[in-house]
Amino acid sequence: MTHDIMQDWIAAFQPRALAAGIRPATLDQALTGLSLRDDVLEKERSQAEFTRTIWDYLDRAVSAERIAAGRAALETHGDIVGRIAAHYGVDPQIVVAIWGLESNFGTLRGDVPTIAALATLAATNRRGAYFESELLAALQILQAGDVTAGQMMGSWAGAMGHTQFMPSNYLTLAVDFDGDGRRDIWAEDPTDALASTAAYLARWGWQAGKPWGVEITLPHGFDYLLAGEREQKPAAEWQALGVCRAGGGDLAEAGPTRVLLPAGALGAAFLIYPNFHVIEHYNRADAYVLAVGHLGDRILGGGPIVTPWPRDLRALTRDECVALQNRLTQAGFDTGGADGRIGPRTQSALRAFQTASGLAPDGFASLAILRHLGGQA
Ligand code: CA
Repeated sequence: MTHDIMQDWIAAFQPRALAAGIRPATLDQALTGLSLRDDVLEKERSQAEFTRTIWDYLDRAVSAERIAAGRAALETHGDIVGRIAAHYGVDPQIVVAIWGLESNFGTLRGDVPTIAALATLAATNRRGAYFESELLAALQILQAGDVTAGQMMGSWAGAMGHTQFMPSNYLTLAVDFDGDGRRDIWAEDPTDALASTAAYLARWGWQAGKPWGVEITLPHGFDYLLAGEREQKPAAEWQALGVCRAGGGDLAEAGPTRVLLPAGALGAAFLIYPNFHVIEHYNRADAYVLAVGHLGDRILGGGPIVTPWPRDLRALTRDECVALQNRLTQAGFDTGGADGRIGPRTQSALRAFQTASGLAPDGFASLAILRHLGGQA
């Protein structure tokens, strides 16, 4: 018999699943005949290589077509989205914007069988333990009878339905809003999926009617060290420092805020509010949160981002990000490892390096900084 990674993995997984309360019949039904999915492995590989600038991401995520489709979706489903938003205390346009980003308003919900996708990742991924816990959650969903294995479809990474819930989130937060007795986020009808997303936002403290963020302009000579994660102030304090709402008007007061510079000193700046961090629970990437918030604003008729992006720059590749992290650490600015992802730790190392070198400490990882550190570009 040939060596089979999936069958070997299933043999090891089964006792763990039984210990977690999955019944033998559920396991038989879900795992019999399963093999590794090449499409999942391929997507995983291409995503690991993928890097994109914030403006390229926003161009696609908040395109004219997406905005128009969002307005149409809010029109078509306005009644139910309005009832959902009122019930959970969230804003309709944010629920619709998440729907737009996660599945293009239900048109791209994913056609990969969730059990097979999660088993493939659990058996092969370096974050296998995470995917195994999501697989256990998916098996619990099957066992509870909310959906059949055949209907349980989603993305290559295990996210399911109109708003791409992971199984563990489904278990704790999905709701049966239409009252038919099943929490059905997979159906053509988006009601339960949108209500589940609203419940999720409410769970993490969404404040209805409050901004997620607003584009700002910074005063000449702004101290970029104030744009760090720890610098939280009420909007009025930023305003007193000369920070203005782009396009004019006062900055709204809605709890502690901070300055976000997605492209460093060279592009648009935002003041972000507690609601920004609620959207982060859906996806931690700043680009994603900005896209959701901005798409929501645009659906309501808000204008585009005013400040131009530095479109002549390109994104650093993963290898270049790793080189940047290694060189910063070698230069005495510890990035806490070199994983090729520019997170808060790398940004603060970068700011410290920029300060020490007499550069604007905006924490933005660019080719110019890599060259400055002596890296190959
Ligand atoms: Ca239902």
